[in-house]
Amino acid sequence: MTTNFLPTNNSFIISCEECGLVVSVSKLEEGQKAHCPRCDHTLTKKIGHPKQKTLAYALTCLIMLFLSLSFPFMSFSFQGLTQEITLLNAVNMLEQYQNSLLALLLLTTVIILPTIYMSLVLYLYVAASKKQTGSKRIIFLCKLLFKIKPWLMVDVFLLGVLVSLIKISSLADVSLGPSFFTFCLYAVLVVKCVSLVDRSWLWEQFIPIQQFKKKYQGETQHANDHLSCHVCHQINPISEETIPICIRCHSSLRYFDMNKNLQQVWALLLTAIIFYIPANVYPIMYTVSLGSTEPSTIIEGVILLWQLGSYPIATVIFIASVFIPLVKILALCWLLITAKKVRNLPDKNAIQKLKVYRVTEFIGRWSMIDVFVVAILVALIQLKSLMAIYPGPGALSFAIVVIFTMLAAMRFDSRMLWRDPKYT
Ligand SMILES: [Zn+2]
Ligand SMILES: [Zn+2]
Repeated sequence: MTTNFLPTNNSFIISCEECGLVVSVSKLEEGQKAHCPRCDHTLTKKIGHPKQKTLAYALTCLIMLFLSLSFPFMSFSFQGLTQEITLLNAVNMLEQYQNSLLALLLLTTVIILPTIYMSLVLYLYVAASKKQTGSKRIIFLCKLLFKIKPWLMVDVFLLGVLVSLIKISSLADVSLGPSFFTFCLYAVLVVKCVSLVDRSWLWEQFIPIQQFKKKYQGETQHANDHLSCHVCHQINPISEETIPICIRCHSSLRYFDMNKNLQQVWALLLTAIIFYIPANVYPIMYTVSLGSTEPSTIIEGVILLWQLGSYPIATVIFIASVFIPLVKILALCWLLITAKKVRNLPDKNAIQKLKVYRVTEFIGRWSMIDVFVVAILVALIQLKSLMAIYPGPGALSFAIVVIFTMLAAMRFDSRMLWRDPKYT
């Protein structure tokens, strides 16, 4: 499929991030979305009242986070002893048991990065309302905003909290503090706010996309006349410079290099595979009950839950911690191994593979649930020798598996799924 577009006053050309096709997009009305005609990827969207709406969500998010940190999160009572925690306690507890890296992970993905993200949204949207132009600072902050986005895990943490609640409720009395409810609101608002921020729209507020008289057509990755900026989506004519720089946001541009991309993804994926072994062999946590300590690996935890009759939780943990990481690793391996065969395959095949890739990318972060469950249990259940839970070395290895499979999926350039017209 080839397209042939010349930009007009009411349209601009961009290249689809997922399949590389050069597409002409008309200026959108509020509430409209533009999709790639070939792979259906959402190229850009314009929500109703983008500035006011996004600012309102970001501000409410920050208020809810402040409330979530100010009051008790939940408490746990067992045989007359009560333990109450706040969100920050959970981080402190992990740190006490020499799990500073896990504590850092929790603090970063659930509190620090969302705070930075929301503050950036506030700053940039206010700047956009004041019609500021793309200064060096604005460009830097815009880039930072989109770098942070994949690492916000507030929704995953909330599911982790719900799973731990059901897990603990079979052991003892659990009561929820006011911060638990504000945290639920915070999680929903973060997800909504992130969905309102559109990359193309935001860049357009500061630096308008540059247009050319020349016709660009076909696929960016196979054309030798232009490169698409992965940061701001500007199409850049190829120049003589050795390091090509985007004319709009000054990011360095990457030439499409399938072999190099395959190597990088393999390296990230192999790291994940290596850590998958200790993640499953070593205990993810130790449970102390009436003086005796019992280690449990991920799979032992699932089996125990199943034997205790907690079928829904056993299923959630099994899917998130065993099934998803394995399927994700296998799916990426399959995409990488078959990438070189793309040359002879029709578009239909590419669309199917792209669907597999999209699912892989979407589900990846949800595997972090088990790590968060361990974090909450460790923070909450600390009644000395009566009953206590400590993190095991498996938890950190497992977090590394999740992070590296996410990095591998992000690094994978899905444009390689489309064949090069030179070989047909
Ligand atoms: Zn596309
Ligand atoms: Zn750019």
